[in-house]
Amino acid sequence: MASFKSSFITTLLRHGLAIAFATAIATQGITSACSRLATTFGPDAYFPGNGNITVWDAKQQETNSACWVQPTSTEDVSTILGHIKDTSCRFAVKGGGHARNPDDSVSAGGVTIDMQRMRSIEVSPSQRIVKLGSGHVLLSLYQGLEKYNLTSLGGRVADVGLGGFVLGGGFSHLSPKYGLAMDNVFEYELVLPNATVAIVNEVTQPDLYFALRGGMNNFGIVTHFTMRAVPQGQMLAGTRTYTADKRDAIIQQAYQLTTKWKNDTAMAFHYSFGYKQEADDYTIAFNPGYSLPILYPAPFEEQNQIPFETGTSRIGWNSQFSIESASATPSGGRSNLVIQPLFEAAIRAGKERGGSAAVVLLTVRWENAEDDDRIDAFARRWVRRSIAVTKVAGRFHPWLYINYAGKHQDPFRAYGEANLQRLKVIQRDVDPQGLFTSQGLCRGYFKLR
Ligand SMILES: Cc1cc2nc3c(=O)[nH]c(=O)nc-3n(C[C@H](O)[C@H](O)[C@H](O)COP(=O)(O)OP(=O)(O)OC[C@H]3O[C@@H](n4cnc5c(N)ncnc54)[C@H](O)[C@@H]3O)c2cc1C
Repeated sequence: MASFKSSFITTLLRHGLAIAFATAIATQGITSACSRLATTFGPDAYFPGNGNITVWDAKQQETNSACWVQPTSTEDVSTILGHIKDTSCRFAVKGGGHARNPDDSVSAGGVTIDMQRMRSIEVSPSQRIVKLGSGHVLLSLYQGLEKYNLTSLGGRVADVGLGGFVLGGGFSHLSPKYGLAMDNVFEYELVLPNATVAIVNEVTQPDLYFALRGGMNNFGIVTHFTMRAVPQGQMLAGTRTYTADKRDAIIQQAYQLTTKWKNDTAMAFHYSFGYKQEADDYTIAFNPGYSLPILYPAPFEEQNQIPFETGTSRIGWNSQFSIESASATPSGGRSNLVIQPLFEAAIRAGKERGGSAAVVLLTVRWENAEDDDRIDAFARRWVRRSIAVTKVAGRFHPWLYINYAGKHQDPFRAYGEANLQRLKVIQRDVDPQGLFTSQGLCRGYFKLR
């Protein structure tokens, strides 16, 4: 909230009355949108102020909405967007609330549309397809599907939202077999910027279907994803931690796993280096994954020989592992940019479903708002140096994962010029008034225009 306030004051001083007038209209819009929503939805689904919205990053926790509303159906979402359009009120859409900047999913001063009550699960008779409400978090998705011994493409952490995860891409332990989560969406139910409902699949709306795979919140509000369901019983996962002297051995293993074992698509892993200020040193965490109930699968044979400090690797349900990961990445810190291997098999699987691409993610967490600029400068420096090093090594690829990108980065440009231009044309087509653009009513996250 502090940064929102200070930039608002600067604008008012610079542009005087004209801005003051525009602000008065905007405030009127907010008051009238909130009052219409209060009347339509009543105290069960409408809440003034911020209420108890769950969001992960402290910067969003410090962002204040004028009011928030929790739809339970596609029709509700359409009604809400209608009121918002009529009143020209700023708004944001919140899935699991893991975006990191004000206005990304908590509206700075406008309406927050919180999707958390939309958590339906409809498994098809063949059990190969599942229609999911877009307000799921990964835990509710895993738990809902484990009853059927099924799962879908989800990520590591229990409280990450399906909405943002899938719309941005979605790296999963099942990616080596099936590609990214977005490669496994067969159909979207979407409330368009004009508040009507569209069923978007490869046949009905091929352009929008293309656009929604990585296009985030630029095309409307997704209310349901129809996705691939896959058989899944208990599996191997967990975390092992290592002292810094094991770094070379771990990196060597990571290399082995992504090369020698690249065709074992039951296997996935990620690893991270955590700086410990007290020791001025790094600890290493390695997370093995094997989608079958095998405690010592062949790919991890050498990895298992490296002496570790602590270990939770075991056979269990993915829902339980996702809860464990959530406790390792608690909410409330301030964070910026995160490294996860993108397996060759994942790229292949993604291409079979139309295409997608790998990833190094720097996550920085800090406590005090006064440090925001210094940390931002550090992250930018780190990115610049990493790009320079990978370019020299001939290993650079310009693709950026939108769900891990920092706000100074431009992930849409990194999709390539032809894709970017196509996305812009589609966006203009479905949203001629520009509601979901940087100058419109839903301005947060990364915008195409
Ligand atoms: C701790 C942690 C762990 C993570 N682990 C993984 C991982 O394993 N794999 C991976 O790929 N990514 C991972 N991510 C990144 C994650 O996928 C993104 O942060 C994602 O955008 C979060 O989605 P959300 O719904 O929780 O966030 P939100 O902040 O709610 O949403 C993110 C953006 O998507 C928009 N949005 C959400 N739902 C909808 C909807 N229904 N319609 C239109 N727009 C919508 C929001 O408006 C917002 O702009 C992780 C992030 C964190 C913080």
